[in-house]
Amino acid sequence: MADQIALTDYLVLGDDPHLVANECTSCGARFFDRRNACASCGATAFTTVPISTTGEVRAFTIVAFAAPGIPVPFVAALVDCDGTSVRANIINVEPDPEHVHTGMKVKLATYPMGPDSEGTEAIGFGFEPIN
Ligand SMILES: [Zn+2]
Repeated sequence: MADQIALTDYLVLGDDPHLVANECTSCGARFFDRRNACASCGATAFTTVPISTTGEVRAFTIVAFAAPGIPVPFVAALVDCDGTSVRANIINVEPDPEHVHTGMKVKLATYPMGPDSEGTEAIGFGFEPIN
């Protein structure tokens, strides 16, 4: 199998792919990007916590126009994973209002984004409906 690399730092691959967040040890606020200080309370200590791989669609939009090379339409959503908001696309679904709705139960899904020149495969993630 080719080497794989996660598209973002907060996607952990392996047998059980999941997202991780930096959680403020002082107030519990969670961030997916690296922070020097908590945006909520200003504390500077963080711990890494795993994020639930299932969630619920809180809000979404169907994107009809995007940069060249990005297939449209696609569904950009805010997914609530046990209290942590995750921005992600809803994938493996027809991108229309008949198939996507708020409150829909979804689960994390990864997909290959194609190899680079050294054969390393980038892995992206989205959420797909739980059937
Ligand atoms: Zn904080």
